[in-house]
This record gives sequence, structure tokens and C-alpha cells, in this order.
Amino acid sequence: MRIVTFSRSITIVPTYTCHLRCRYCSFWSATDGLIPRSQARALMRQAYRAGCREALIMSGDAPWLEPGFAVNDQGYVDFVFELCEMALHEGLLPHTNIGVVAPRHLEQLHQVNPSMGLMLESVNDDLPAHRGARGKRVAARLGFLRAAGELRIPFTTGILVGIDESAADRRATLGTIRGLHEQYGHIQEIIVQNFRARPGTPMAGHPEPPPELMVETVELARAILPAMSIQIPPNLNANYVDLVRAGANDLGGVSPDVDHINPDHRFPPPPDIERALAAIGCGLRERLPVYPEVRADWSPAARRLRAIAAPADVRLEAPGAAADAPTSERRSGLGSASSLRLPAPDDLVCTLDASREAALRAAAGRRYRPRFSLRAGEGWAERVATLDRLRTLHLSSGAFDGLVIRAEPAVPPEERLRALAYARLYLGKEWPDVGLSWADGPALALDGLSVGGSAVWDVPPVSWGWLAAELAARGLAPRRPAAVGVGGRA
Ligand code: SF4
Repeated sequence: MRIVTFSRSITIVPTYTCHLRCRYCSFWSATDGLIPRSQARALMRQAYRAGCREALIMSGDAPWLEPGFAVNDQGYVDFVFELCEMALHEGLLPHTNIGVVAPRHLEQLHQVNPSMGLMLESVNDDLPAHRGARGKRVAARLGFLRAAGELRIPFTTGILVGIDESAADRRATLGTIRGLHEQYGHIQEIIVQNFRARPGTPMAGHPEPPPELMVETVELARAILPAMSIQIPPNLNANYVDLVRAGANDLGGVSPDVDHINPDHRFPPPPDIERALAAIGCGLRERLPVYPEVRADWSPAARRLRAIAAPADVRLEAPGAAADAPTSERRSGLGSASSLRLPAPDDLVCTLDASREAALRAAAGRRYRPRFSLRAGEGWAERVATLDRLRTLHLSSGAFDGLVIRAEPAVPPEERLRALAYARLYLGKEWPDVGLSWADGPALALDGLSVGGSAVWDVPPVSWGWLAAELAARGLAPRRPAAVGVGGRA
């Protein structure tokens, strides 16, 4: 079955102030200030509770060049950096797209962003849509994309269709993106976005691109970039199913909130998307804002294992008294889980024999959560082998609903954390709901680690120490065993 992905995300706009003046845009302001931190945090918490895993930190270009703006370029990047850290703390992976910034600022933001983005839009520098857009120059955007490539930042870019560009322009734009990717290998997805006329803008009366042109452009993108993830926004394309047929395989960020660029085009709810895609034989799956293929290229398994085998700075407090445990309920949005109990009575232990594999295969796709037990004294290599095998089963048999890692009381906290971190990092996007419970009763709720996992791996300064601190910050609160267990959802 073909799988179409999306990222459940919330958009945080640091400011609406933008120095450019694209003629199709109703997003920009000349006088907006910075979003209050309390508001940003409240939005993130709300999004996390709604199941989001991504915070798209998005603004226009160079707001500091507008008279009266609160901060200069460094101050603005520092503020965005702070928002990204806040997102990580609140359990969301940031993906920043704030226009062109200096390479040193890009490098700074890379520390807290598993991926970033900037629309190339078009390589035609003389489109009417950009006349008057001070500084929206192709050279500047290409320079930025190259800087991102040199820094090895997993990157999202794309083409804007229907702004008077020619067919040759579209081909050249996609070809340019391909060339960048061939040079740096950092483009993880391409957005094929259609112009939508916004009231109150100079292009309010401009015709929108016909649906056939979008189909044609997706086909072109697929032909030019056969292995690339091609993303289309489902809220801007009533015919998004046709675009999937034409080769698109990703729907980008789907938010419970509005699309801040096109606020009158609501996102269809994921269950509706799932039904529409099922009609053409496609499945829908959530992803994180960084693709494991990109990470795999840049983060060889050996490096992962070495890092995981030597988490020297990990310190984990033992679980304490009952407290307000953070909920580990992360709404999948793709239908509620139905309980299922496997006939096999025992937990998975360090090895996974044929009968257990058969039982797990039988349960796959039925929203079942296998259990994996850590026992004192067993080897780390065996644990990793079993976790890897579980991942393979998960991928080949059609999605378990998560994984519960249990630990005997004698298993030291560091080992529990290491196992969880490995599962979180390596199983990554395919298995976002990994839970960890203590075998002696109370369970550890681990909200937010789905973000910590990816971030720890791809962003060096976010260290194992950070991961441990995240756990500590979340209180390591024990939960009753009934909350996490075989056949149930946390
Ligand atoms: S499209 Fe982006 S860069 Fe252009 S005016 Fe709008 S916010 Fe600014």
C-alpha cells in the first residue's frame, strides 16, 4: 500500500512583521511586535495536548529592517532560538522557516532545529508577484539554501505555482532544487504550492492556477526528483487526492489551528484525509519534521550505537512519589485504539523467538502495543538486536500502536533511559508512541521524548544530558500500571 505522510503541527509566528512585500501576501505587517512568550508557550502546550509533534516557527523576512522593530537581526534570531528551545521543552520538534538569515544565524538555529525550511518559489527573478518585494532575490535564497546544505541541515523548500511563471521557469526551479540536493544531499522534501488569491492584496483578482496545472507540476516534480518527498498542502487543493495520484506523497503540516498564510482554507481533519486516500488505495501516516532517510545518510548507525553506548553524562533520578504525571496520551487522530490481547502470555524478553514473532505478526495492524522487558544483567547488544527486530516487524507487518518497555526493579535507571532513548531515536518516526513502564508497578510517563529522541540525535548540543534533564523536568512521575500495558493505550 502506498503511504502518504503528514506532520501534525502547530504554527508559531514570532512576528508578522516582514520587510518584503510580496504582492500575493496578506501575512505581512509593518508594525507587529514579538509574540509574548506566555502566548507561545500556551499555544505549544495546547498543540501538544492535541497530538502535535512539530512546531513550525514561521515568519517573513528580515523584520528587523522595519522601522521601530523591537530587536536587531541577532536579537530576532535569539528570540526564535528561544522559541525553539521552548518547543523542545514542551514536547514539540521545531521546524524554523523565517526567511533568509546570515549563515552564522542559520548555524545557531541549526542547534535547536532538526530541520528547517525556505521556499525557493521560483528561479525567475523578474516575476510581477515579487516586484516591490525588497530583497526577495533568487540569489539570496539560493545562497541560503546552499548555506543550509553546507551545514547539513535537513531542509524543506519548494516551488510556488501560478504567479505568472512559465513552464520553463517551473522546470528550471525544480531542476535547481535537484542540483542543490545532488550537491549537498540536504533537501528532504519539496513543496509544490499553489498560489491562492488573498483578498486585500495587489493580486486579489489574479487567476489561481487550475487544478490540472497542479497535477502537471506534481508529475514534473516527481519526474525530476523521483526519490524525493513531494509535498502538497491539502487545505489549498480540493483535488489533493489527484495530486497524490500524480506522485505527491506528503501533505506537510496539518494543524488543528489555521493556516496562517491562508487562514480561510482550513485543514481537512486527518480522519477525512485518511478516508479519501483509502479510496485510492493509499494509507496515511504521521511523520516527524525530519526524515529518517536524511538522518541515516548523515548519522551512520555506528555513530548512533557509539553514542548510545556511552551516555556518560546521563543521570536519572529514581522514580519518586506519585505526582501529577504528564499524560502520555498522544492522540493519533487516525481512529481510537481497540484493545487486543495476544495469546502469548509472556512478555517479550531479551530474545524474540519464532512463536513470539508469529504472535506479534498476527497482532500487527490492530493497534497492539508489544512489550519489551529489560532484565538485570542482560547484554546491551542483545537488547538492541531485539529492538531492531521489533522495528523490522513493525515496518513489515503494518504498524504496532507503540512499544512498552518494561524494566525489572534491579535494572538501573540509566539502562532504562538508554533503552528508551534507543527506541525513541532509532525507531523514530515509525513508532512515535513508545512508552516505558517499570515492571515493579509504577510506570514512567514519557511525554515529549518523541521529540527529544530526534533532537538528541541530530542536534549535537542537545545532549544526553539534555535528555536526562528533560526527564527530570517532567518529574519522572510514577503512574499506576493500569495506565500503560499490553493491549491498552496509555
Ligand atoms: S510571502 Fe513571506 S516574504 Fe513575502 S511578504 Fe509575505 S511574509 Fe514577507
